[in-house]
Amino acid sequence: MSDDVRRTGLVYHEHFLWHDAGSAASVIPAGGMVEPGPHAESPERIRRVNSLVEVSGLGVHLERPYPVPATVEQLTRIHTPDYVERVRAASDGEGADVGDNAFVHRSSYEIAVLSAGACITAVEQVATGALDNAYALVRPPGHHALADRGMGGCIFSNVAIAVRHAQDALGLERVAVVDWDAHHGNGTQDAFYDDPRVLTVSLHQSGCYPPGSGTAQETGDGAAVRTNVNVPLPPGSGVGAYEVAFERLILPALDAHRPELMIVACGFDSSGWETHARLMLHSEAYRGFTRDLLGIASAHAGGRLVYCHEGGYSPAYAPFCALTILEELSGRSTGVEDPFLPIIGGFDYQEPQPHQVAVIEEVLRAHGRS
Ligand code: ZN
Repeated sequence: MSDDVRRTGLVYHEHFLWHDAGSAASVIPAGGMVEPGPHAESPERIRRVNSLVEVSGLGVHLERPYPVPATVEQLTRIHTPDYVERVRAASDGEGADVGDNAFVHRSSYEIAVLSAGACITAVEQVATGALDNAYALVRPPGHHALADRGMGGCIFSNVAIAVRHAQDALGLERVAVVDWDAHHGNGTQDAFYDDPRVLTVSLHQSGCYPPGSGTAQETGDGAAVRTNVNVPLPPGSGVGAYEVAFERLILPALDAHRPELMIVACGFDSSGWETHARLMLHSEAYRGFTRDLLGIASAHAGGRLVYCHEGGYSPAYAPFCALTILEELSGRSTGVEDPFLPIIGGFDYQEPQPHQVAVIEEVLRAHGRS
């Protein structure tokens, strides 16, 4: 055990496993020539994270705050009342796609409300000092959801809702969101595009999802210009490219923003054991980024750092990535070795490549920092 242990919370609930994303071939809805099967946005992808936390022995050292469902008032700080009602009605009725590939079935409303609420619970626990930091292990995910429709399996914009709660109810003005899900955090970007108090950073595979979204030139509007940072990395980018982005772009931007609260939209589909993108991160990469963010959080935010689970569709690999993050957050080592690491890490492609660095330099130029 380290001398520097922290009070870390894991916010999780059995009900998150009961959301039914529908029948699909991966994420393609079943029907016609698409044979029905399990949806990639499956309960297994978070259940196995919780299982490894327990079996590794780390679980006994984590606090387990009980998630409180989000209220309609909290949801409508981001979403239109009409949309919230549409999700509720679809969930109570026959189910529906409430946007672009965002399927709601029986009880999905209550579970999506609990997912957003768990992110709020994590922020509240950290904001009040009951915990040093926290990880909300939730589904459905949130970062694609827009004000008036769901997208890409996301029903409510969990992180954005938690940010607005921190601002409106907890007195934390300046917030930073770092999204390393492989797909663009378009919903979070949209929520704060004209709010200079919220720095939104998204590292993602260029053009992957939503199509055409998340370019370097999307930097924010009005007074919020340069408070939205997109890093659209080429397929094949590994830890080296991400480290260049962190050192030259993201850490200085976070430092300059001086956030009072930091939230990570934590998707593991940017790992090298994934089929929903072609990025090459691994458990030790996420550990390193977490160390960096703990440094920024302790410098500016009184250590207030909250992770909210997003994508990640390898139930086999996500647990090892989440475990390294929880080890860093709590300051405790489990001794568990990542058996995938020798396969994903250690090859030349993990070094930064010139065409990847060129993208980071394009982002620097878009933000007037070349
Ligand atoms: Zn994703």
